[in-house]
Amino acid sequence: MNRELWEKAVAFHGHECPGLAIGFKACQAAAEKMGVGVSDDEKIVCVTENDACGVDAIQALLSCTIGKGNLLYRDTGKQAFSFFDRTSGKKLRVCLKPGKNKDMDRTQWKRYLLNAPVEEIFSFSEPKFDLPERARLFNTVVCELCGEGAPEQKIHLQDGKKVCADCFKRYSRGW
Ligand SMILES: [Zn+2]
Ligand SMILES: [Zn+2]
Repeated sequence: MNRELWEKAVAFHGHECPGLAIGFKACQAAAEKMGVGVSDDEKIVCVTENDACGVDAIQALLSCTIGKGNLLYRDTGKQAFSFFDRTSGKKLRVCLKPGKNKDMDRTQWKRYLLNAPVEEIFSFSEPKFDLPERARLFNTVVCELCGEGAPEQKIHLQDGKKVCADCFKRYSRGW
């Protein structure tokens, strides 16, 4: 394993843990299977299926971030990450094989993850979904209830008024 990269991920995340090791190995899998490099800023898009520790390794090592639009969250709760290379068109989904940590404590599990070949840790497949189109700019609409601005595709119509997601939910949930 690459010590330097692991330490970079740990520094970003704030602690060492098995979850971070999963994300670290997912990056390694992307590097090995797709030829993705650490410096391939902006051309790699990651779709993560969980918001756990591992995502931090992907942010630290592949520069995928929510703000840049190349880190997308698709909540299935699975330890699965899909990588898309915008330049080459290559794509790969890696998913943690279940049950591997059965007889291991956290320290053993982390050590195992860091040292095992990626083929042992993950199953690989083609992502079954495509990337959404890149974010477009929408007009801002002022909510008629709270007065805050929101992009028009997030605005709801309620009793003939244009309302934001907050006001719409509050109303429909009876708050
Ligand atoms: Zn952690
Ligand atoms: Zn509102």
